[in-house]
Amino acid sequence: MPNDSPMVYLVGAGPGDVGLLTLRAIECLSQADLVIYDKLVPLAFLDYAPSAAERLCVADFPGCHPERWPHVQQAMIVAAGQGKRVVRLKGGDPFLFGRGGEEAEALRKAGIGFEVVAGVTAGLGAAACAGIPLTHRDYASAVALVTGHEPPGRPESKLDWQALARFPGTLVFYMGMSHLAEIVHTLVELGKSPDTPSAVVQQATTGNQRTVEAPLASLPDSVAAAGLGSPAVIVIGAVVALRKELAWFEQRPLFGRRVLVTRPRHQAAELVRRLERLGAVALSLPMLEVREPADWTAVDHALKNLALYQWLVFTSVNGVHALIQRLRKLGYDLRALGGLRLAAIGPGTAQCLRSYYLEPDLVPSEYRSESLAAALKQRAQGQRVLLARADRGRDILRQELAESATVDQIAVYSQVDLLATNRDVLDGLRDGTIDYITVTSSNIARALVAALDQETKANVKNGRVKLVSISPVTSAVIRELDLPVAAEAAEYTTAGVVQALIGLAERA
Ligand code: SAH
Repeated sequence: MPNDSPMVYLVGAGPGDVGLLTLRAIECLSQADLVIYDKLVPLAFLDYAPSAAERLCVADFPGCHPERWPHVQQAMIVAAGQGKRVVRLKGGDPFLFGRGGEEAEALRKAGIGFEVVAGVTAGLGAAACAGIPLTHRDYASAVALVTGHEPPGRPESKLDWQALARFPGTLVFYMGMSHLAEIVHTLVELGKSPDTPSAVVQQATTGNQRTVEAPLASLPDSVAAAGLGSPAVIVIGAVVALRKELAWFEQRPLFGRRVLVTRPRHQAAELVRRLERLGAVALSLPMLEVREPADWTAVDHALKNLALYQWLVFTSVNGVHALIQRLRKLGYDLRALGGLRLAAIGPGTAQCLRSYYLEPDLVPSEYRSESLAAALKQRAQGQRVLLARADRGRDILRQELAESATVDQIAVYSQVDLLATNRDVLDGLRDGTIDYITVTSSNIARALVAALDQETKANVKNGRVKLVSISPVTSAVIRELDLPVAAEAAEYTTAGVVQALIGLAERA
């Protein structure tokens, strides 16, 4: 993005699933100085902006809906005039029912350049994820996207309701939930069949999606009975009947399950994504943070003397990254490891080595310190072993190895417990609306249990909130701390944790 002439990016954020952000949206966000975002945009999307970028929610501006817009426009114009790269992040598509047109007009009037980045609009996201093809050669050859904000009989309504009742295709209403009964009544009165297949899709494309289907005339009652509210779209037309065959989204194994991920922030995203693809609502509450060790002296000494060792052993992905980055910082490259055999505790660590084009010489068949120690004991007999690890954790590997080899242990990274501060997550744990907590290491287990209040612990004990552990070692720590483990991974990896979750969800 050019930084010289003032520019505003009117960016569509899609309906809620991060997978429906466009590449261009991510590009714009990653270079933003200021992001002004709609209330419906998930906060996680803001992670694509630099941490230094300013973030403003439109709800932070004074006034309510219509009064707020001049302030929002003014803020964009002022910031762009100061040379800031401004991203105006809007739900769905910026030019569909989001006042994007008015915002672009205001920018043009102020002489500020703009780019519009199309987004997946809610109606399309809802149709895809509810299994309702909006057109179909047998049922509908046209679609109308209609505002539900101008109910019939109001002087401000610019809609031709007779034409809508006669429209030969699928109707999709936005912003119509508070006027649902009036909309349905009018369409039926003007001749639309009361039996027309219809649906309301709430929070489409997310793990919170809910869909209610009914013949048009009974849709308002069915929606009220199910307790659906905004944001939702109303879909009316013969194609809705296809949902019976084509619904897929709500059938995924973790659909609607609320799962808490407690891994460090930089490692959480991959697990969160995997859970979301299986239908879950994944929340993140990092219990630990990975930092540089307080003192590099011992590490640097070992790295400068790698020729003394025959084996280099890694017990985590973090350890691999930290050691290799330090090596680079000292002016070496991978050739410094050329004379060493490499051991990795499990497949995740092995994969991380491979990402640096290093093939581990040893990965034990069972991913735990005892197994790594047993395998290494034979192969490294009488040799010198360098163990790269965190500044805390189990000492078993060093102890066992020391029986047959010379072992030097270096702390290449430091783990720090984080204070759990996310109100929404803590409330969810307390009121039992979070179904599962994933516990992916012993240290996370300790930090997590220390952070849980009595109410949450009671929820865990009575099974409302279930702990899913990555390995027997982690499970043992949880049990020592007097909490039950609902399921344990058969393979001690995050993929194994996901499998255990699926098993639990099937049984629930
Ligand atoms: N520009 C947006 C629409 C903004 S108007 C777009 O293109 O999607 C806000 C309306 O969008 C809501 O009242 C609701 O009807 C719809 N909407 C937004 N997100 C939605 C979602 N995840 N599921 C269902 N409807 C949604």
